[in-house]
Order: sequence, then structure tokens, then C-alpha cells
Amino acid sequence: MIQAKAINHIGIAVKSIQASRDFYEKVLGAQWEGEEVVVEQKVKVGFLKLGPAGAEVRLELLEPTSPESTIAGFIEKRGEGLHHVAVTVDNIQKRLDDLKAGGVRLIDEKPRQGAHQAQIAFLHPKSSCGILTELCEPRH
Ligand code: ZN
Repeated sequence: MIQAKAINHIGIAVKSIQASRDFYEKVLGAQWEGEEVVVEQKVKVGFLKLGPAGAEVRLELLEPTSPESTIAGFIEKRGEGLHHVAVTVDNIQKRLDDLKAGGVRLIDEKPRQGAHQAQIAFLHPKSSCGILTELCEPRH
């Protein structure tokens, strides 16, 4: 068991952050936090938060910056929509090692750099009830 501390964010694949923002801000009342390009992942990431301070949930809009981006492939196959759920963990490498030893399929055996300089790694959806699950260790 990795004892996740919280839902860190919900990742949503979109063709255009600019075009999707309105729904989250004007319909749901989420608050825009800004965007950043994660070059290694070939995505632009836009962050919004929703809910009262201290208990907000962060939404991560993922827009491909290249047709080779895995997000572009995802949208091509499945359309825009829920892409992953991220949970907050500590000691991410140890968590990955423990999961692997326990027979959980991993996409990333070593953490990589995500937005906000967090260390992230994905579990395979075949081992996580069909939803791509991201472990996220925020920068301390
Ligand atoms: Zn994410």
C-alpha cells in the first residue's frame, strides 16, 4: 500500500486550453492559476483550482504541443476528457519499487519531472481499474 495523502489533481486532455478554460471558470467557477509548458512531455498544462481554501481540488488541463505527444494520441483515440487522476505521495521512488515488487504494472519505474517541478510517475491503467493513475511528489 502506498498510502496516498490526497488527490493531487485531476488531469483532463483537451485540444485547446484556451477554448476549454471558459467551461471550468465560467460554468464551474474554478479559479485559473496559470499555465506552463512541460517540454519533455510535449504538453502545455493549465491549472485551475476549485473549492474552498485548504480543501481545493486542482484540475490540470493538458494540451498537446506536438502530434507526437501522448496526449495527442489519447485525444485521437478517445477524444477529449478525463485523462488521469494524480495522488500525492512521499518517497516516490520507494513507492514505485514497492508497487513493482507487489506486482503492480508501472508505466514509469523511475520518476520524471512534471509541472511545478514535481516528481511524477504513472501506474498502468491495467493495474489501476482502468484509470491512468499518477503518483506525484510535490517539490519540497
Ligand atoms: Zn498530472
